[in-house]
Amino acid sequence: MLDYNNQDSWYDDKHLNQSPVDLVANDEHVQDFLPIYADKFYQLTQEINDETTIRLTGFGNATIFNREFEFQQIHFHAPAEHTINGKQLPFEIHLVHQNKIGQTVVVAILPKLGNSNPTLQAIINNFNADEPQSVSIKLENWIARLSSGFHYQGSLTTPPLTEGVEWVVIDDSSLTVSQNQIDWFIHQFGKNNRDTQALNGRQIEHYSK
Ligand SMILES: [Zn+2]
Repeated sequence: MLDYNNQDSWYDDKHLNQSPVDLVANDEHVQDFLPIYADKFYQLTQEINDETTIRLTGFGNATIFNREFEFQQIHFHAPAEHTINGKQLPFEIHLVHQNKIGQTVVVAILPKLGNSNPTLQAIINNFNADEPQSVSIKLENWIARLSSGFHYQGSLTTPPLTEGVEWVVIDDSSLTVSQNQIDWFIHQFGKNNRDTQALNGRQIEHYSK
């Protein structure tokens, strides 16, 4: 099992463009919203306990930066992996997408602490259920059409830490998760956030109006 208390042992120092990172809006600010246009729903199919998180595979389509992607899987981190201006939120959702030429885009959502998220609760309830309910993500609730956020080049945040992964981190999500939901994840899996990594000169674009 992946040991989050011994992250140095994951690391291979050939890697320079790693994720997560601390996100700071700077000169690369772009006067536009994030160009993400997703299906109305992503249907989730298989729920997998991978011992460090819950991962659900599924299907759906999105156009991200004018390229067509297929939704592959969703999983969760508590607390958040990306920080914004050094500030860490309690939870991060990763929606992993891939296109036909093998490019990977992860759309990360940073919910705020608040009301329980019903989709997340269905996923939690399914975890040990004999007869799981079918779950879909209503994308208009999860990724607003005019979202602001960050765009940069990084890596997977778990071994093999593969680089060439494109990140879109939404920073104005209206999603909330409850303290009980966060506590459930941490009780079940332990804290599963990778530490933030050096930028090593990478540019971070910030999209907002
Ligand atoms: Zn992740």
